Amino acid sequence: MAKMHTLLTLSVRSAAEFLNKQEIIAFPTETVYGLAGRIDSEKALNKIFQAKGRPADNPLIVHIYCFEQLSGLAENLNPNALKLIENFWPGPLTLILEGTKQISPLINAGLGTIAVRQPKHQMALELIEEVGIPLAAPSANLSGKPSGTLAKHILEDFDGLIPCILDGGATIHGLESTVVNCQKPEEINILRLGSIPFEALQEVIPNIKINNNNKSASPGLKYKHYAPRAQVQLINCPKEINSFFECAYIGFEPAHQNIQKQKIINSNELYAAVLFAFFRECDEMGFKTIFCQMPQPSGLGLTLIDRLLKASSH
Ligand code: AMP
Ligand code: MG
Repeated sequence: MAKMHTLLTLSVRSAAEFLNKQEIIAFPTETVYGLAGRIDSEKALNKIFQAKGRPADNPLIVHIYCFEQLSGLAENLNPNALKLIENFWPGPLTLILEGTKQISPLINAGLGTIAVRQPKHQMALELIEEVGIPLAAPSANLSGKPSGTLAKHILEDFDGLIPCILDGGATIHGLESTVVNCQKPEEINILRLGSIPFEALQEVIPNIKINNNNKSASPGLKYKHYAPRAQVQLINCPKEINSFFECAYIGFEPAHQNIQKQKIINSNELYAAVLFAFFRECDEMGFKTIFCQMPQPSGLGLTLIDRLLKASSH
């Protein structure tokens, strides 16, 4: 790809102008930064895959600013899908719904479905409204890397490759949206754990299942994800750490003082908010190993465990 100047801006209008010229830009959401293109621009959609190095069979999430924008994208919404929308939109919940015929195969990888969500982030909503049509946007990171949670992370991955980054500061949740398959009302299942905890969804749909290993239902699951360059080692307790050289640590209890870089967090929410930024900082500082304390397997802890397992398996 030819190198270009990357503008860092606070102006929603400037970012929208690039989108309307069929360019792609990075923008903040409440989960992580997204790399957006207009859904009606084949040129922009192709650029998303090219810039990220994203495999063509990994479909994109479409972002809308109001419920009305759903009508051109999805059809035959069942009562459970509507219940989830009512309870969790705007918010970090992506629904897989039956797609309309107009959906480009570049967006849904020819699956006939559509992944869609309404973000809960003022700048994101203003941007989509300004452009006037929904935006396809995967996470704004090179494929396989941790998602970006600060504009600085987007520059690290895409400086010179995209024309614009809309800077909204740090994202709130720090982990991606929860992806729920809603095609069949009697079989609602979670394809990817995310920023909405499992238990919150269960309160609305009591028989919802976690099915986050179904690689045919959600092609993205088969790819390497969320990995820093350093090796990620999972531990239950910091006392398990027996080598300190070039090592960093993140967890709930302090580790041995010989570990130079430590991040102590006191909640799963904070763990989620800082994890990817911590991975990137450790890479920048040249650490070889990152020890991560495993959270309890409930609430956001389940999502964190999913990301930690993926980050450590390479
Ligand atoms: P990302 O936006 O990079 O966080 O990744 C989007 C995730 O949503 C990936 O795991 C995709 O496989 C999944 N996804 C997107 N569209 C669909 C779809 N139509 N059906 C199933 N999964 C999808
Ligand atoms: Mg991603």
